[in-house]
Amino acid sequence: MKKRSFISGAAAIFAALLFAGAALAAGKQPAAASATQQKGQPAAGQQGRPADFSYPRIVHPTRVGKPLDIPDIGGYRVLKCDFHNHTLLSADGLVSPMNRITEGIETGLDALAITDHFGYVRSAAIPEATEAKFFERARAIAAANHFTFIMGSELNATTKAWPIIHANALFLKDKNDIRDMYDLIAKDQSNVDTPQKAYDVFVEQIRMAKAKGAFTELNHPWFMQPGDKFAITPTLKRLFDEKLFDGIEIVNASIREQVDNDAFALCLEKGLTIIGNTDCHDLIFTYLNNFHIAHRGMTLVFARENSAAAIREALDAGRTIAVSNFKFYGRPDNIEMLVRGTIVAQVDPAANLLSLRNLSGLPYRLDVVLPDGYVKPEWVQLDAHGVVSVRLERLDNAAGAFAGSVTLVVRNAFVAPDKNFSMTVN
Ligand SMILES: [Zn+2]
Ligand SMILES: [Zn+2]
Repeated sequence: MKKRSFISGAAAIFAALLFAGAALAAGKQPAAASATQQKGQPAAGQQGRPADFSYPRIVHPTRVGKPLDIPDIGGYRVLKCDFHNHTLLSADGLVSPMNRITEGIETGLDALAITDHFGYVRSAAIPEATEAKFFERARAIAAANHFTFIMGSELNATTKAWPIIHANALFLKDKNDIRDMYDLIAKDQSNVDTPQKAYDVFVEQIRMAKAKGAFTELNHPWFMQPGDKFAITPTLKRLFDEKLFDGIEIVNASIREQVDNDAFALCLEKGLTIIGNTDCHDLIFTYLNNFHIAHRGMTLVFARENSAAAIREALDAGRTIAVSNFKFYGRPDNIEMLVRGTIVAQVDPAANLLSLRNLSGLPYRLDVVLPDGYVKPEWVQLDAHGVVSVRLERLDNAAGAFAGSVTLVVRNAFVAPDKNFSMTVN
């Protein structure tokens, strides 16, 4: 039944596309499209939009999977953000800044940071005037779509010696912020002949980024480290001791699907902000295909509104959850806010029934823990916007109303390394 309606739905969309294509070929504007455009036209001078509204609003964030709609929770919007993306302004990046923003919108994000490399992998092939134009257009696409663009840069210890250190500086005001740091590296470049000197320059960069008001995030701390394991080197210790990192990227979905549990534990211990990103270098759709995953890595941010300032406030307060392939990692209070804000669970003792309703586009996998003497149910898949009922049956088949409590263990939500979030249903 479900399948049949999907097929007929797909056929209807296909027919609509054919009709739209035919109308366009005939030089006509399809009626539905023009209606959408009229609806999307901003009032003159509307806040957050450029005066010359020349960029189309992108209305179908559904090219991969479903949009992950999440209701507002506790007075916050739950924003989907990716704070680590490269463009062709990194020598190893393949897409334009405009395309990165468009992809962000199409994959259902609310905000995205462009964090091109500095120093040894910065692309020298793009003239400055072209770069400025790229970012001007990227900002215009973001503004036209109520999407938040965040300027950043990925800083690095400029050395081929291991272990590498990479960190993002986010919320840079403009290109000149980056230029100052680039000058700092360039000035010291001739002296960077030992790994230690490179690390010293890196520490200087991070200090400068902090002095400029950037939010600093240690990136993929396990990557290219001995044994692929996050270890606190003397340089990292200096940075942590000086409190120069605000957060750690515990999920980097381009490098591996799994969370880094050492980084997760350190965030919890030191009160650092928990971040999940893609670190995308090629097309997002290539990345999604390569990794066979349903959705991009991201950070859920509990923010008062969708703006750079509100996102920054939330990051500083640590109201984040890192997401990798529908697994959620965060501080216990943030995970609890997400789960209780998206799952409605109720016990009807007289009917011996537990009912579960998912208010969001996020899928959950749950263990239902019942008192002794009750049939233990299998784990429950609570799909996006799904409704599931679980019968509360006694092993001895005795009659009577359910007595006791029900505990839900959320298998894909983690409040500490390998520790699932659980809650009692009243
Ligand atoms: Zn990196
Ligand atoms: Zn990167």
